[in-house]
Amino acid sequence: MKRKDYFYQNYSWQELKELVPKQPVVVQPIGSVEDHGYHLPLDTDNFLIQNICEEAASRANGEILLLPLIPYGFETHHMDFPGTIDIQMEHLLNFVLDVTKSVAHHGFKRILIADGHGSNMPILELVARRTILETDSLCGAFIWPSLAPKEINAVRESEQGGIAHAGELETSVYLHLDSPHVQMDKAEKEIGMPPSKFIILDLMESSPVKFMDIWTRFSKSGVYGDPKLATPEKGKIIFEAVVEAFLNLVKEFKSRPDGNRIDHH
Ligand SMILES: [Zn+2]
Repeated sequence: MKRKDYFYQNYSWQELKELVPKQPVVVQPIGSVEDHGYHLPLDTDNFLIQNICEEAASRANGEILLLPLIPYGFETHHMDFPGTIDIQMEHLLNFVLDVTKSVAHHGFKRILIADGHGSNMPILELVARRTILETDSLCGAFIWPSLAPKEINAVRESEQGGIAHAGELETSVYLHLDSPHVQMDKAEKEIGMPPSKFIILDLMESSPVKFMDIWTRFSKSGVYGDPKLATPEKGKIIFEAVVEAFLNLVKEFKSRPDGNRIDHH
């Protein structure tokens, strides 16, 4: 079997060193092992982000170098659901920062953290900031749906809250990629938080107030969203749009100038 050349760890150290002058964008995928309702497996975040990253890397003509997936995330608020693996927020911050600083140490100047799990994001934003402050590299973090909001909103049918967790979005993309592992007969709609203008839980909308409660207080199945509206057709459109946007991001980020820092003391 031919080993894929976009995987960081498939190179010898000498070969990897030779890639540094080419300055591919090094991508760190991260997901979670976490409850996703009655209808989706615990691997949902890992499975979706890994597929998105691999598909983008396979089309990127060497511009993406893909690190091994970090399979665990920050989950303390989900621990009432059996199976969920929780990495404490300080541990996750330090762990991912150790990875980005290692990559920067070897001379790679552009690093992206590709996230599949919403609650990792505030932590990964800090990792990206600290990587910039503490190394010579530039680092950004994103959660995949935010790359293609226009295309997602164009196929979306659910109300506000319908795309948060194991809802219309994740279920659609999982159906597109691997429908036998989605138990649609068990899918339940749940949008269980009190209505609010200020506290909104939806991946396609920024909540004016940042707030995250313990999940079993507002969700019985673990779903927040409307998986009954999910279809593989929507999943295909969303997947393709996200991969396309990811490739555009990589192109832009790769050629982003370093800028000249000036110390005015
Ligand atoms: Zn998820």
